[in-house]
Amino acid sequence: METTKIKAYGVQSAVDTLKLIDIQRREITANDIEIDILYCGVCHSDLHTARNDWGGTVYPAVPGHEIVGKVTKVGSSVTKLKVGDYAAVGCLVDSCRTCASCKDDLEQYCLNGFTGTYNGKDKHLGTQTFGGYSEKVVVDEHFVLKVPANLDLAATAPLLCAGITTWSPLRHWKVGKDSKVAVVGLGGLGHMAIKLAKGLGAHVSLFSRSASKTKDAIALGADDVIISSDNAHMNSVKGKFDLIIDTVPYVHDVNPYVATLNISGTLVLVGYLGGLEPIVNSVPMILGRKSIAGSLIGGLAETQEMLDFCGEHNIVSDIELINIQDINEAYERMLKSDVHYRFVIDMASLK
Ligand code: NAP
Ligand code: ZN
Ligand code: ZN
Repeated sequence: METTKIKAYGVQSAVDTLKLIDIQRREITANDIEIDILYCGVCHSDLHTARNDWGGTVYPAVPGHEIVGKVTKVGSSVTKLKVGDYAAVGCLVDSCRTCASCKDDLEQYCLNGFTGTYNGKDKHLGTQTFGGYSEKVVVDEHFVLKVPANLDLAATAPLLCAGITTWSPLRHWKVGKDSKVAVVGLGGLGHMAIKLAKGLGAHVSLFSRSASKTKDAIALGADDVIISSDNAHMNSVKGKFDLIIDTVPYVHDVNPYVATLNISGTLVLVGYLGGLEPIVNSVPMILGRKSIAGSLIGGLAETQEMLDFCGEHNIVSDIELINIQDINEAYERMLKSDVHYRFVIDMASLK
């Protein structure tokens, strides 16, 4: 298969910083769209992958799965978009398209394994996939999204992961105007969870470790903020929430949050992957029919639904635009929870 060499930013090992590297992109096939990348959001998963926090990173690795750009080529069978249109790509670039999950528009739960936008197994080239910290990307049209015309392009990029990852549980657990939702952690996912839950009409609270984020949370749409380290404050919201979206990336005690769930309420983990510590106590779960659940990004149809909703409600991410040369510093700031509230790379800086 024919390929072209392009510029990207990637890491060569778990302890390496991101640097300029060359990668290969395939030439378009009949179903492919080639996108010139204009903006790429910076997700905490990019950092987890670069540093091999989850194991399994293949090097060199090029992160980035919040991609917005302009279509430069389309294959002969493509109908969704044409050259010159704006387009977006999220966390998925392929799946089997035939299993029960794929047929149900749940490509993220493909029973044969989805192909991630980075560090996935590219079915065309047989190598690993490379993400959006690069000049361009080639993706099957099924995995390409349309961008609402009224939204700022740079601020739209984070919707492709932070947006859909929080939208999917809000929809699955049927959040609406009578719902009481809480969000744990005010970072990229957390701030989108507040905006989207508010857009759906819910009452929204934020659990944060930092009182310094209170003003911002209210400005983002939260009705109130609970400081998670303050026991009296935590006690004051016992039994309150129908749905809690927990975005914390590292192991943490979920028991205090379960206590704040209403009867039949659900705590959905979207951040931390791994064994929970300290041990989760089943007593409040059994006595209150409470659930602890997990959720992974969202399917393509649901991602388009979220983008269209954001277009109608004028919802975008609050971003700090950076050059690709600043990416290593951005990672260090992300580790200190110093993100307001998503870094987005202006990919013109790579050209
Ligand atoms: P982020 O911007 O770094 O935000 C995470 C927030 O969690 C921080 O701002 C902080 O908020 C809080 N936090 C950080 N470390 C903490 C700790 N040790 N204990 C308690 N709270 C802590 O990260 P993100 O991009 O939103 O991603 C969040 C997590 O979701 C990552 O692990 C990422 O890999 C994962 N993720 C999952 C999916 C999925 O499909 N399930 C999709 C995308 C990302 P406060 O300062 O307000 O406490
Ligand atoms: Zn992500
Ligand atoms: Zn499948």
